[in-house]
Amino acid sequence: MATAVEYLLPLDEKWEFPRGYLTLGKHLGEGEFGTVVQGEAIGILEENVITTVAVKMLKDSHSDSDMIDLVKEMEVLKLIGAHENVLRVLGCCTQNGPLLIITEFAQYGNLLHFLRKRHYFIYKNTSEMLAEHTLLTFALQVARGMEYLASKKCVHRDLAARNILVSHVFVLKIADFGLARNIQSKEYYKKKTKGRLPVKWMAPEALTHLLFTIKSDVWSYGILLWEILTLGGVPYPAFTDMGKLIKDLKSGYRLEQPSNCSSKTYNLMRECWHYLPEERPNFSSIAQELCEMLPSEVLDQHASENFWSNSNESNSSNTKSESNFSSTESEYNSSYTESESSSSDNENEVDNLLP
Ligand code: AMP
Repeated sequence: MATAVEYLLPLDEKWEFPRGYLTLGKHLGEGEFGTVVQGEAIGILEENVITTVAVKMLKDSHSDSDMIDLVKEMEVLKLIGAHENVLRVLGCCTQNGPLLIITEFAQYGNLLHFLRKRHYFIYKNTSEMLAEHTLLTFALQVARGMEYLASKKCVHRDLAARNILVSHVFVLKIADFGLARNIQSKEYYKKKTKGRLPVKWMAPEALTHLLFTIKSDVWSYGILLWEILTLGGVPYPAFTDMGKLIKDLKSGYRLEQPSNCSSKTYNLMRECWHYLPEERPNFSSIAQELCEMLPSEVLDQHASENFWSNSNESNSSNTKSESNFSSTESEYNSSYTESESSSSDNENEVDNLLP
């Protein structure tokens, strides 16, 4: 395994954490090139106090470009700063061994698994209204996290339920900044290299011109909202080729209204899926709209802690325990499609597409 030593990463004293104070534990999940394990870090938040953390590192089979991507993810995380609904980096080990990124630990793993596991609980134990309100508190948290990222000029590019984490008090954290880019100097990020992309979550302009903006994140947020309301449904299950998806979207085809989803919530999704990016709402107005849709007692309950806290026992037919929450590679792979560099890879043409 190539280590950070081979790559001679510069020391960033503000973030460097001593390896000897970190113990690695069980496997939590994995993405295309990274593996995440649970860990314990002594003194990372408070002197002499042990904190449970998550540690992201490269898989043994990684390439040089995977290493570059992980370094980029680390730098984006460091730049973003702290927000309740964004996964916080706590430290990094960059010297004398493999690169390790230490983040907050999210007890309930990713949102996709969380929702799928509670499918039975939510439909059998609650009224439709309560179920929807509870799910909308999740949507609201993601909107607030995205509002913050937008204010930091960060385009996430991979907003999906699999990349949202659920922490111990049912607070949602936007995670997986592997594709995220800072767009400080321009309002968009234009992907120029080959790579695997989450096509079913991508806006039309991202599919056709590899053009990513805060508004293409809004489109993805609409798909994520659909995933939430379907409790982990698979968008476009019959998807086979990207060309057909682009054609269908252009002619107005959209994901259908989920059952048990109010027209108001579905309308919000449809607003996010406006073909023209400038017609889509921004994250502040999405958060505002969700607040208006939720009764104040639900908002006060903050993240519906009372609602979810009993949800584990009620799903006794599911033998998987929380600790077994891990994303499988095949599930991960089915969410991404290899992209070619855009055929119209031309900055002027991209500029013409901008509002
Ligand atoms: P990632 O490569 O960041 O997409 O992470 C892959 C999987 O690892 C996620 O889908 C989660 O199941 C798990 N995971 C990642 N980060 C954390 C974390 N901070 N706490 C708990 N589980 C995590």
